[in-house]
Amino acid sequence: MLRAYGAVFVNQDVKIKLPQKGMFANEQETQDFQATLTMGYIDGTNDCYLQKSAADALNKARIQQQIPLKSGYGSGDCTRTFSTNLRFWHKYANNQILAKVQQGKETKILGVVAPPGTSQHLWGLAIDLRVGSKEQRKALNQNGWFQTVYNDVPHWTYVGLTEENLPLFGFKKQVVRGITYWLTPL
Ligand SMILES: [Zn+2]
Repeated sequence: MLRAYGAVFVNQDVKIKLPQKGMFANEQETQDFQATLTMGYIDGTNDCYLQKSAADALNKARIQQQIPLKSGYGSGDCTRTFSTNLRFWHKYANNQILAKVQQGKETKILGVVAPPGTSQHLWGLAIDLRVGSKEQRKALNQNGWFQTVYNDVPHWTYVGLTEENLPLFGFKKQVVRGITYWLTPL
């Protein structure tokens, strides 16, 4: 799980809060964590919020380039509740797959949907976007946003580092079908 979603843990910004564990057990644990966050609004959306540093960086990128959210406008692309994470999981997977993930026998699903309680979207540090052009990617990268979850095409993670610093923190670059992923080296 940490290999798939752990990129955020290199964040050097003291204002960014990171979860104490990689998997929240339920809505209450998720809410207790989310209640400690300082959030920022993504300009031009209905109700898209991220941790403030991540939101500020994304707003900057979206001034440089027009970058739509995956679904267009809403909170589902941004910071999610435990129940939204759970609902998405059940759309693509089930308890049997969850057991396999927990045994370390299944990893492919992690690039499709996050197991309950593990999504970067719970931490306010991820957003799903519709990105097509080099220029859009560049604007995101220049503002600390990178693709860190292998095969999850719309998913962007706020890492807060410059691209040249990513290898210094151990990130591994992998290009798949024209998309550059920066993978957590675990
Ligand atoms: Zn996502």
